[in-house]
Amino acid sequence: MIPYIMANRKCAALSLEDCLSAADETEVCVVRENALEEAPEILRDCFGADPVCFVVSGGYTYEAAGKRLEEALKSAGLEVRLHVFPPCIHADYAHVEALSRLFAASPSERGPLVPVAAGSGTINDVVKRAAFEQGLPYFCAATAASVDGYTANGAALLYEGFKQTFPCTAPRAVAADTKVLARAPAYLASSGFGDLAGKITAGTDWIIAEKAGRFGAPGAAPIDEKAWAMTQSGLMDALNASADAAKGDCSALEALFSALAVTGFAMQYHKSSRPVSSAEHSFSHVWEMDGLTMQDGAPVTHGHKVTIGTLLATAFTELFFADSAGPPETPRGFARPGLPEREAAAAGAFSRASATARDLVLKTVGEKFMEPERAKQVNAGFLDCWQEIRSAVLERLLPYGELRALLKRAACPLAAEAINLSRTQAIAAARRAQMIRNKYSVLDLAWDLGCFETVLAALEDSGQYLR
Ligand SMILES: [Zn+2]
Repeated sequence: MIPYIMANRKCAALSLEDCLSAADETEVCVVRENALEEAPEILRDCFGADPVCFVVSGGYTYEAAGKRLEEALKSAGLEVRLHVFPPCIHADYAHVEALSRLFAASPSERGPLVPVAAGSGTINDVVKRAAFEQGLPYFCAATAASVDGYTANGAALLYEGFKQTFPCTAPRAVAADTKVLARAPAYLASSGFGDLAGKITAGTDWIIAEKAGRFGAPGAAPIDEKAWAMTQSGLMDALNASADAAKGDCSALEALFSALAVTGFAMQYHKSSRPVSSAEHSFSHVWEMDGLTMQDGAPVTHGHKVTIGTLLATAFTELFFADSAGPPETPRGFARPGLPEREAAAAGAFSRASATARDLVLKTVGEKFMEPERAKQVNAGFLDCWQEIRSAVLERLLPYGELRALLKRAACPLAAEAINLSRTQAIAAARRAQMIRNKYSVLDLAWDLGCFETVLAALEDSGQYLR
């Protein structure tokens, strides 16, 4: 019998400062009213006495914050160079290359060149990677509480038609002015809220992945107490405190931005995304590969895709663990497929993806595949501790009805149609979501036990989920 894995996991919530001290790349994170006016001081403290600030902004974010930041830096006597992208650029790698060339062609004799990202998620990711390519530490002046990636040590960028996370150094300093956050469009705050809500299923999947590791499954990971405390211990408090962010409430926005920043610090500390993302993000990655847009052609935000992914992952987890006696039944005549069948299924499921994306999925399917003997051992391990793992997961999982009510309060999308998918399309994405990451989740557990399709059929037939 394996000891009850959650026995020591009731850690106290950590403060933003505690979490920041665990991060090894970000030194300063200021989230408060008029934080923009503190930028000159932060820059001098973190980057040297006379930094040359290369401010990069987007069309809208320059008006919202970039201009004020530029003025604050100039009036503090700092040299400022400026690049403003057109409004609403995509996180395309071509922008990184262009910016990287601009940084390289902008030598500074006066002091160190410091890229300054004045924008939301996309501007930050583009600047982060371009700064990394030039070996320059950078400063992030965030304009919306929209995403968990500001403080992550990676940038999500579109490369050869496929959204990929490129490694890069997190910002050395971050400033988020709550008055600026409050003026951002409401859908950006609800996106950030959905991304934060996704940490609930990231946590329950980590409980499953820890067990999977003990039984020898690939893609598993032991729970790290500190990373767990950073992302999970104060999560429900943070969600409750942030629920009015989309209404422009400054204290809710402060709570939301701080909690999102902490998830990046957990990634810096843990050197992986395991503490902050799992099945709910796999749904989102599938829709990113599909280039999911709204009817007017605007891309669906990362956070709104994660919101629907979190509802689906929660529904799937509830249905999978519905019976205290054991997992759902496997369909009659079920036979575990071999690797060639599995690869053929993945190639078919991703037939419309780019060749690069498909190759990466096939590689992942191979990494995840277990030979029959190993699969038998992993399945037996889970069946032996069914009640224990079920209790541990359900104790952490926010019940679907409560999650839906919380997301509704935060003005998040609640139905597949809200992200321009049919309910059936959204549910069917679970099959592809299970294939794309070698990161053990509830989707893998159901697949390994042979009841994946049973759970999916129950989800489709349910009158409750994603309605
Ligand atoms: Zn995310």
